[in-house]
Amino acid sequence: MNRTDVPVDVLIVGAGPAGLTLAARLAAAGAGRVEVLEREEEAGGMPRHLHHGGFGRPPRPWLRGPEYARRSVRAALTAGATVRTGVSATGWAGPLTLETTSPAGLERITARAVVLATGARERPRSARLVPGSRPQGVLTTGELFQTVHRHGLAVGRRAVVVGDEAVARHAVGTLRRAGTEVAAMVTERPRAAAVPGVPLLTATTVGELRGRGRLTGVAVRHRDGRSGVLACDTVVFTGDWIPDHELARRGGVPLDPGTRGPGVDASFRTPVPGVFAVGNALHGIERAATAAGEGAAAAAPVLAHLAGAPWPEPGPPLEVRAPLLWVTPNRLTGTAGRPLLLRSGEPLTAPLVTVHQDGRPLWRRRFAGPASPSRSLRLPPGWTARVDRTGGPVVVAVG
Ligand SMILES: Cc1cc2nc3c(=O)[nH]c(=O)nc-3n(C[C@H](O)[C@H](O)[C@H](O)COP(=O)(O)OP(=O)(O)OC[C@H]3O[C@@H](n4cnc5c(N)ncnc54)[C@H](O)[C@@H]3O)c2cc1C
Repeated sequence: MNRTDVPVDVLIVGAGPAGLTLAARLAAAGAGRVEVLEREEEAGGMPRHLHHGGFGRPPRPWLRGPEYARRSVRAALTAGATVRTGVSATGWAGPLTLETTSPAGLERITARAVVLATGARERPRSARLVPGSRPQGVLTTGELFQTVHRHGLAVGRRAVVVGDEAVARHAVGTLRRAGTEVAAMVTERPRAAAVPGVPLLTATTVGELRGRGRLTGVAVRHRDGRSGVLACDTVVFTGDWIPDHELARRGGVPLDPGTRGPGVDASFRTPVPGVFAVGNALHGIERAATAAGEGAAAAAPVLAHLAGAPWPEPGPPLEVRAPLLWVTPNRLTGTAGRPLLLRSGEPLTAPLVTVHQDGRPLWRRRFAGPASPSRSLRLPPGWTARVDRTGGPVVVAVG
């Protein structure tokens, strides 16, 4: 089928807080034709589906996700960016040429800079290897939000929520607002914060989904061997979010093994000249203000690229040691201007974080608070000036 060829200056894939904030900055700076593609019917990204307060910087209890999303869209449009909804970027026809599909037809859009701002997605349930048929009533958090907020539908009478992170607590809130009783929260972890009024089963796994047609219960097993069945007609699996890296993968943009998002330097440049990445596409779920902040910070390097700045040689990679899961950025081609984000796979109390290169200590700090698998530590960036650009990997560890 024929595709229409469209030239733009900057093509941003994903109209969430990261992509829209970057679009607003670039358009305001006179970057030329800045086009944002959004596959959903409305722009705004994930906050559109999140009806609780707590958006903005600092988090404002009264600012709900849909209003925050509307403000982000308005800012991009007012600055002069083009935001096109119902348009999916499906693949690449060249290093800086994306193929798109929409009800209006197929296009091939060539840009001078491409920015991946595709957000994060929940891993499909099948990845969790819970046996049992797939009866109705088995949801991910995303499906729950869509059912309740987008379609205004009822979910069920009695639900079990699997997970204990912030996303799980939001799922509990959404279920309650939809009139569903929450029978329990179930987590594999030995310790977790409970939601008032909801029984919390720690060190417990969901072993099986029961029911044909409609869910009737979930079989659970405690680490000490005790087991039982929780009667419910709905189960919500939460918290397993990874960068939506499909488009990056199709374009041969190398992924970082830790974050599983496109590997970037501190200026959001991937190893592919002209291709940048920002927001949750880099690291999974962070606050919207963090994603938007990355979008804002990427404007200067994108403008520099448009002005002809050379694409730097890949600098030394950043690596983590267990129990740390990932750090972002993933390479150091220059001094970082923003805090680095560091994620642990286990809860840690007052962790001592160290950074070394070729056995040379670069930085260390004991953090006063805890580190958790659902919340990143922020490493101040000053030490990145001491990295030897021609040296070996920079290793981040906890002592
Ligand atoms: C349950 C939950 C509660 C949260 N609560 C808060 C909170 O209280 N406060 C807060 O600050 N943050 C909160 N967040 C986090 C916040 O929503 C995200 O950090 C933020 O939306 C990330 O912005 P983003 O632009 O990186 O990605 P997203 O908002 O996910 O936007 C990415 C967009 O890209 C589009 N896209 C992807 N691929 C393509 C493609 N190939 N073609 C076209 N379009 C594409 C997607 O449709 C999506 O709209 C919460 C998140 C969750 C899951």
